[in-house]
Amino acid sequence: MEKYCPKCRQKRNSRSKFCDMCGTPLEEREGRIKLPKGMYDKVYRRDGYRCQMCGASKNNGAELTIDHIIPLAAGGSNSINNLQTLCRSCNENKADLIFKSGLDVDIEIKKNELKSLLKVISEKREKFKSLTNLLSEEKEILSNCNEDEKIDIIFNIKQLEEEFIPTIESDLKKLNKELQLIEEDLRLKILEKQEKNRLFKILYINIDDSTLSFLKKHFSIDKDSKSDILKSLIEEHEEKEIYDIIFNEFYNDLNKKYRYLVIFRFENSKKNFVNYLINNNFSKDALINELTSTRNHLRNNLLYDLDLNYKQKILLKKYFSLENCSDNVLADRIIDSQYSKKELLNILDSYRLQLLKELSSKISKNDLQLIKEYYSIYSYSKKQTVEYLFDEKNIISSSDISNLLDHISEYNKFSKS
Ligand SMILES: [Zn+2]
Ligand SMILES: [Zn+2]
Repeated sequence: MEKYCPKCRQKRNSRSKFCDMCGTPLEEREGRIKLPKGMYDKVYRRDGYRCQMCGASKNNGAELTIDHIIPLAAGGSNSINNLQTLCRSCNENKADLIFKSGLDVDIEIKKNELKSLLKVISEKREKFKSLTNLLSEEKEILSNCNEDEKIDIIFNIKQLEEEFIPTIESDLKKLNKELQLIEEDLRLKILEKQEKNRLFKILYINIDDSTLSFLKKHFSIDKDSKSDILKSLIEEHEEKEIYDIIFNEFYNDLNKKYRYLVIFRFENSKKNFVNYLINNNFSKDALINELTSTRNHLRNNLLYDLDLNYKQKILLKKYFSLENCSDNVLADRIIDSQYSKKELLNILDSYRLQLLKELSSKISKNDLQLIKEYYSIYSYSKKQTVEYLFDEKNIISSSDISNLLDHISEYNKFSKS
C-alpha cells in the first residue's frame, strides 16, 4: 500500500495523513509495484499483441503498453484479469473518451462500493492483526503468571481462539469473496464502456448517410445529428444487434448469386461482413466489386481445387447441359450451384452409373459382339465392355455408340474388301 493524493493524482509521503501540496486527506492504494517481466509478456500474448481498443499492433507502428482496467487509484489490482494491452495513444486518450454513456453512473457507483469495501477489509485486517498479537501476549503471560491469574487468562485465550479470531477470519473470507464479485463487475462495466466508445468512434468516422438514416429509421431514433443518433443507438442496443441489422440490410439487398459469395468471402461471419462495410465506408459499389473479385478468384481456383480430370469435366459439362462450353463457364455454374466438392463427386459417381446403364441398354447382342471383336476384348462381359468404352474410349452417350457402330461397320466393310 502507498499513500496517494486524489486531488493531485500523485503519490505522497507514506507517513503523512494529508497532501503536503494541497492539504487533501491522502488515500491508500495498491502500490504501482513494478509488474514482473513475465506478466507483461503474459498480457501481451493473451491479447494477441494488439491494442484492445483500436486493434493496432507493433507491426503498424504502435507502442504497446499495459493498462489497468480498474485504475489502481480506484482500488484496482495488479492481477492479470485487471490488465489489458493498449497502444500508447489509446492509453493516453482513455480519459477523454468521446462517448459518455449511462454506464458511467454505474461505474462510479461500483468504484465507490469497491473503495468502501477495501476500507472495511483493511480495518478488519488490522483488527485481525491486533487480536493475534493479543493472543500471543496472553500466551506469554500464561507461562509466567501465578496460579490464581491463570483461570482468567485461559478464559481469555479460549475466547480469542474459539470465538473472536475465527469470526474475523470468516468475515474476511466473505468480504474477499464480495470484493472479487465487485471487481469483476466493475471490470466488465469498464470494458463494456470501452467497447461502446470504440464502436461509437468507428461508426462516427465511417458510416455513410444512407446507412445512418436507415439505422435511425429502423430503431426509431428521435435524434437528428449524426453524433446524437449514434449515441442513442449505441446506448440502447448491443453491438451484435446493430451489426445484425446492418448485415441484413446489405445482405438482403444482394441478389442470390452474391449472397453465396458473401458467405464464402466473409467466412459465414456477420461481424466480418459488417467490419468490411465499416472499413469501406458502407459503399455498396465497393462491396459488389469485392464480391466480383471473390467470384473470379473462386472460379480460378475451383477446377484446380476439385482436381477434376478431363473425363470428369466432360461429364459435369454434360450433366449441367454445358457440352460445348469452356471450363470457366463450368466453374461459374458450379459456383452458382453451391455444390460442395463431396456433393460434386457424388453427382459424378451416380451420373456415371446412370450413363453406363443407358449405354448398356443401347447395345444389342449383335452390337456387343462387333465391339468386342473390334477392340479385341473377347473375354469381356457386357458390363466390362460398357465400362471400357466409357472410361477408356470416351463413349458416353447413345449418339457416341451409334457413331462407333457406324465406324465399325465401315471398318469391317473396308477390311473385307
Ligand atoms: Zn494534493
Ligand atoms: Zn490503440
